Parts: sequence; structure tokens; C-alpha cells
Amino acid sequence: MRPEDLLLPTPAGVCCKLGGFHIDPTRPVDKALITHGHSDHARAGHGTVLATQETLDLMRLRYGESFAGAVQAIKYGETVKLGGVKVTFHPAGHVLGSAQVAVEANGLRAVASGDYKNVADPTCAPFELVPCDLFITEATFGLPVFRHGDPDAEIAKLLRSVALFPDRAHLVGAYSLGKAQRVIALIRKAGYERPIYLHGAMQKITHYYQYRGIDLGRVELARGVSKSELAGTITLCPPSTLKEVWSRRFPDPVTCFASGWMRVRARARQHLVELPLVVSDHADWGGLTATITATGASEIWVTHGQEDALVHWSMTQGLRARPLDIVGYGDEDKAGDGEDDQPDGAA
Ligand SMILES: [Zn+2]
Ligand SMILES: [Zn+2]
Repeated sequence: MRPEDLLLPTPAGVCCKLGGFHIDPTRPVDKALITHGHSDHARAGHGTVLATQETLDLMRLRYGESFAGAVQAIKYGETVKLGGVKVTFHPAGHVLGSAQVAVEANGLRAVASGDYKNVADPTCAPFELVPCDLFITEATFGLPVFRHGDPDAEIAKLLRSVALFPDRAHLVGAYSLGKAQRVIALIRKAGYERPIYLHGAMQKITHYYQYRGIDLGRVELARGVSKSELAGTITLCPPSTLKEVWSRRFPDPVTCFASGWMRVRARARQHLVELPLVVSDHADWGGLTATITATGASEIWVTHGQEDALVHWSMTQGLRARPLDIVGYGDEDKAGDGEDDQPDGAA
């Protein structure tokens, strides 16, 4: 059996003929296995969706009750038989509920990792290494220049700035699903105990994280709080709102943006970001290459925009590697507006 007999790249996404399903399809299909709730992976309109309970719940929050014909929840480590294959979900460490999908038949194992990071995150289960023959990896930050560094050091920068400017508000642009909650959790980990404020677009998802037991401390809507009370505070908001009228309710705001793209100074300038914070929910170059090696896979398929360098690197390691030309993943990345999530933060 060859890897292509197990999984097949199609324009709609990776397809498993033997199992009768697609993984993270970009078009409506009969049966979809969804790795996580970001909008480029989790789309509405499929017949049946198999995903973790968290991913199903997040899809319901975003798209409404009828986001799929039928749903089936699967736990991490649980194996289901679909047609002629066995499917197991493993934590991907990307956002709450995110999973890698392992597909097995005839002694061959393929892992579609969706988006992942091999870095600690207080808001989701840690990435689990799954040995496999074929590894499908993202390449959002698939260039050697991307080294994300220590997220705690970035949060320390933010808190130093808050201490330095007690009369100004700090507005932190962050994507509504995953990044915002992780930034809040990191701020708490650093010992900051005052209320943290939210843009309304982040409320539902943030409440859902709290409902699933993620401790975020006191989180309140910025709406209705007076301008003077917002001096010296921290507010999380969708990145696009940093430049909108909405931000004028804040006293002399310091604009911050938490993203792996903040490693690139031009991006920070383009977004008029005063305080860039390099905090990413994707593996950086070191993380991608270390993970590829550690899986032991002899064949690597690469998605998400920056495929070339990672394909080339894999080949220098003696691995078979190819880009997957699936249109629709991380499109917002290319626009420079985000990491996966809807640039407008709509939720
Ligand atoms: Zn994602
Ligand atoms: Zn993605």
C-alpha cells in the first residue's frame, strides 16, 4: 500500500476513499473530519461532521445549530472504524479542541495534523507526537526567519508598557478563537489580576473557554465602561478593530498585536502596531522541522502557503515531500491579516 492509496489530495481537501471521508474539506462533502474550529478548516454545510466535542461546539457557536446534517464527537485517543480504515484523534496543541487525525490501514499510518504547535499553551491539550509513515504538515511559518521565541517574554513586554503608561489604554489585537484566550491566560500566568476587557466579538468564544474550565480570571466587556475607567487597562480585540472608530472610546490607546507575523517589522508597521507581540499558535521553523523528523515519516505533504522551503528542507533530509495545492487554507495569512482566523474576528 502506498500513502496515496490511504489519502488522496483533491481540490476539496485531503480525501480518504477507503474510509469515505475528507479531512478539513474546503467544499461541502458527505462526511468531513475536522481538525479544529478555525474558519479555513471548519466550514459549514457538510453532511456529517466528526470532530472533538470542543470543535463541534465552536462550529455551532460560529455557524448556528444547523452547521452540519449530523455530528459525531470523538475524544482524544479514541479510535473509530470508518469503512476500511481506523481513525484516531490526537491533540495538536493549536487551540481548544484541536486535533491531528491519524488514519490507518494495512499497517500504514498517515497523520493529518491540521494546524499545530509544539509549545506549551495553558488553554489547550499539548501537542502529541504520533509516529507515522505519511505526515501532512502546515507551513504557515515555514521559513527559517520565523522563530517565535518565548511568549512569556512578550507578555512581560506588554505588562511593562502597562505599568509605564498608567493613563493610556492597551488594546491587544488577537484572533477571537484561541489567540485571545491564550493571551489572557498568559497575562494571568504573569500575575496580573485586574479585570481584562474584551471586544464584544470575542465574548461567546471566551465564555466557552471558561465553561470548558480554562481559568481566565475576571473578564469583562469594554462596552459600557467609561473612557476614564479604561486608563491603565488591557483590552483584547479583533486586529481589524484596532484601526476602527471602536478604538476611539479608549484613552490614548497603545495598539498591540499578538501574532507570529509580528516577527516581521513591515507587518507591524502596516498594521500601525505600536507594540508588536510575537505570540503564535503555529509551530515556527524549528518546531516544524523538529516535528517532521520526530514523526519518523518518510513522506511529507505540506499545506498553508509557505510550502516551498519546507518541501525543500524535507528533501534534503532524504524524505519524499510535496506541496498540497489546496486553495482555501490560511488565506487570511497571505492577506497578512491573521493566523487562520477571520480577519474581522466575526464570531
Ligand atoms: Zn488554525
Ligand atoms: Zn490553518
